[in-house]
Amino acid sequence: MSTSAQKLYEGKAKIVYATEKEQEYLTYFKDDATAFNAQKKGTIVGKGEINCTVSSALLKWLESKGIPTHFIDQPSSREMLVKAVKIIPLEVVVRNIAAGSLCKQTGLNQGEKLPFPLVEFYLKNDELGDPLLTCDRLSILNIIPSEQIEQLKQYALQINQHLQEFFQSCQITLVDFKLEFGFDSENNIILADEISPDTCRLWDELEQDKQKRVLDKDRFRQDLGKIESAYQEVQQRVLTQIEKLKNS
Ligand code: C5P
Repeated sequence: MSTSAQKLYEGKAKIVYATEKEQEYLTYFKDDATAFNAQKKGTIVGKGEINCTVSSALLKWLESKGIPTHFIDQPSSREMLVKAVKIIPLEVVVRNIAAGSLCKQTGLNQGEKLPFPLVEFYLKNDELGDPLLTCDRLSILNIIPSEQIEQLKQYALQINQHLQEFFQSCQITLVDFKLEFGFDSENNIILADEISPDTCRLWDELEQDKQKRVLDKDRFRQDLGKIESAYQEVQQRVLTQIEKLKNS
């Protein structure tokens, strides 16, 4: 990345730069970690490289499955070249197993398998604490038309199927994850942002212990330690599986 590159946006975990091409951005992945709407802050050494590499591999793989994404290339370990998108200010969460805020808000037991994948929409707004939206709130906010909300839901469910299958082959359970979408230059909805241990709950199927099995940002949120090695484990299993698929 050239030091003169124009910074377009700096988020909690990434910086987005303009490039010479109007329709391409360069995303830089930081080691900074935040949780609970940035009330907890820290650094996870090597996180930027791992999240960039894992996200690049998964986005490229999803693209091969017919999911349109913003991924173009990974020019260096912490940089992802992406299509310029206008981000839709919604966080789309898919849950297969009860955990996190779902348990807090509903009393469901952590680890309970849900009868069907639950798709939820949260407003992407730090000041408001990213609130969970109801159908009617979505409709009143009118961020995008209801047909496009339905399209996001269908993409989210398809992505869930592909990712569940993928992580299963890595002997990892995909508990839940968050997606962000945006509009490309032709106004198509495409998958943006990242898919990484920062944005997914991932449990090691080879580990029975409820704390030891955690391979994601919950290690940081809950002070479980061994964060770096958990992220590295995810990266190693994901890359090994991608290689296997390439050679099969
Ligand atoms: O906290 P909660 O249980 O609602 O999170 C659901 C999933 O979405 C988790 O995998 C979490 O890592 C992810 N998430 C995220 N960014 C947020 C909120 C949730 O990546 N701002």
